[in-house]
Amino acid sequence: MTYLRISLTDRCNLRCVYCMPAMGAKFSPKEELLSDEEILAVVKAAEKIGFNKIRLTGGEPTIRPHVTELVREIASLPGIDDITMTTNGLLLKRLAQPLKDAGLTRVNVSIDTLDGEKFTQITRGGKIEKVWEGIHAAAEAGLSPIKMNAVVVRGQNDQEVGDLAGLTMDNPYQMRFIEVMPLDGVDDVHDSGLVTTAETIDLIEDQFDAKLEPVEAPAGDPARIYHLPGAMGTVGFISPVSEPFCAFCNRIRLTADGKLRLCLLRNDEVDVREILRGGGNEDDLIEQVRFGVWRKPWGHGLLEGDRNMGRGMSQIGG
Ligand code: SAM
Ligand code: SF4
Repeated sequence: MTYLRISLTDRCNLRCVYCMPAMGAKFSPKEELLSDEEILAVVKAAEKIGFNKIRLTGGEPTIRPHVTELVREIASLPGIDDITMTTNGLLLKRLAQPLKDAGLTRVNVSIDTLDGEKFTQITRGGKIEKVWEGIHAAAEAGLSPIKMNAVVVRGQNDQEVGDLAGLTMDNPYQMRFIEVMPLDGVDDVHDSGLVTTAETIDLIEDQFDAKLEPVEAPAGDPARIYHLPGAMGTVGFISPVSEPFCAFCNRIRLTADGKLRLCLLRNDEVDVREILRGGGNEDDLIEQVRFGVWRKPWGHGLLEGDRNMGRGMSQIGG
């Protein structure tokens, strides 16, 4: 295990249909959320046992106060080689350069459609122009290569996957298509909305009347990477439902309320907040992180019909 994904907050300035319910999303009381110092203590403990890659996510990580300072502190740790962020991009216009200056390596920006009205519908209120401003600011700041995430949902954006892939023809982006996963609050969207990677690939190849050409993915990347003939950028497919990559999973997650979530789709969690707030020292914290690593399950079992509801994606940190 070398990769820690940290949910900086369970709050968000959007309400995407596949991530949060329209009403009644669950948020932890503020006092249950980890402070900057507590997050940093967990990162230091993880770094001591070999974690070298950090991703900041959420909820929406850019709405966390002092996010730039937190990035600076994490980036200054000698064992951390890579610190990235997954964001909806709305606040990147203002934050891209300060984040880059603080040591952020690159960003993944979520964008599920190219159509402004549909974007507002899928995100329940978002303005697509803000995302594009954010993407351009990230490119200007050098937060590259920019990866873009689209969760493919039947009846929402499945007929647009070709146009989204087409963005890579003249831009050095990586456009990543993600299968929708069943998590708390949105299982109805998953059940009726799942579009498998095989289907998405067919839709793209049909539109371009060409075969996608495989590209070797970096070690540890769950995406299968291809490019369209002649394209500047690449397309990636993340298929947790139809082709689980559990055997290669090198990541654990830290939830905003201080639990190590060992698999996105299983409820097993190990509490680090009780160590932090119960007078534990760094050795105790290291021991708890190690304990979590050893307890990491063999896989999520979706294909066998396992469903572990209880937390939504925005609470866990996608
Ligand atoms: N707010 C940021 C964003 O949207 O990029 C970061 C958090 S979001 C939970 C992280 C990623 O999870 C996004 O790319 C989002 O599209 C994806 N995601 C959310 N719900 C999902 C679901 N049910 N299945 C698959 N991916 C999901
Ligand atoms: Fe917010 Fe990201 Fe979830 Fe959309 S996917 S509701 S932007 S956390």
